[in-house]
Amino acid sequence: MQYGAQRVSDINLSQVRKMFEQASPTAINLALGEPDFDTPKHIIDALKNALDEGYTHYSQNKGEDNVILTVGASEALYSTVNALIDPKDDVLIPDPGFLSYREVVKIAGANPVALKTSAENGFNTTLDDVENTVTENTKAMIINSPANPTGSVMPKDEIKAIAEFADENDIIIISDEIYEKIIYDKKHYSFQAYTDNAVTINGFSKAYAMTGLRVGYLSACSEIIDEVLKVHQYNVACIDTATQIAATEALTGPQQCVSDMTSEFRKRRDLVVDSLYDMGVECIRPDGAFYVFFKQDNPDEFIQKALKEDVVLVNGNAFGEMGEGYIRLSYAQSYENLQTAMERLAKIA
Ligand code: PMP
Repeated sequence: MQYGAQRVSDINLSQVRKMFEQASPTAINLALGEPDFDTPKHIIDALKNALDEGYTHYSQNKGEDNVILTVGASEALYSTVNALIDPKDDVLIPDPGFLSYREVVKIAGANPVALKTSAENGFNTTLDDVENTVTENTKAMIINSPANPTGSVMPKDEIKAIAEFADENDIIIISDEIYEKIIYDKKHYSFQAYTDNAVTINGFSKAYAMTGLRVGYLSACSEIIDEVLKVHQYNVACIDTATQIAATEALTGPQQCVSDMTSEFRKRRDLVVDSLYDMGVECIRPDGAFYVFFKQDNPDEFIQKALKEDVVLVNGNAFGEMGEGYIRLSYAQSYENLQTAMERLAKIA
């Protein structure tokens, strides 16, 4: 008997997790997209106080008028796609792109269409790419800037141009902005500034090192929120009440923690990129997030050799066809561990 529903049975489990499970417990893990920093103390204190004050009951289903608080950005993405997409619809997804996009669209029974980007234009999605890829059945496109796995950051002009295109063609933009605050020399622009057809997905996991607290959100016009609320409500009812208070503290409390973490990430980025350049490895110095996407002729071989040196990496092809010939390195690890890891990689490069 086949237990899985048709649309679920060919869903892939995350290759990032698989790599992690293969590694020895002492290996330096450069596979996982999880900040190594402790959650800032004022946020933890707010959480503890909320529990002491009895915030252990249901809350409202959503947040503000145009916001739904979700179980991480993951649930925001899931609820949005399931509320807005029909099985007949095509959804453009970035390639290379975050692994969940393809699978969430498939869980909704719809058809993911790769919106390909390449190193030549810094792995940025351009209006040309969208125009060349869009189909008659395209209901939505998912965009992610700053991006996982490449660290690319889209310029304002392109965001504006794609927003206008989406407006003219009645296409919804699902804009995953979870790395918004982890950005170096460029500025972040939101699609919502240029169109009402955009859903912004965001969360606290990355900027505030709160991955385990599972809090994210989406914001959109009320017509979209009304639809997404139906999926959210019947799926999770509401998110953890005390965590909502911790998230409020994260947003309204001191922001020094975010700039401290980002400047540490910048140092790590430069260490990794400079070390790769010294090894003669090709890569772009990324403008945001905490990943370096570097070129390798034989990624599998390199990854296996790295594993023997106790360094865990992920094959770029886990993120789509355009990731073939690349490896993703997450520098959400201490500077010291990264120094050791880069010395080990230098031996095999
Ligand atoms: N979007 C992107 C691009 C991500 O990299 C991640 C986490 N790896 C998420 C969403 C999910 O984040 P959360 O922990 O908030 O569910």
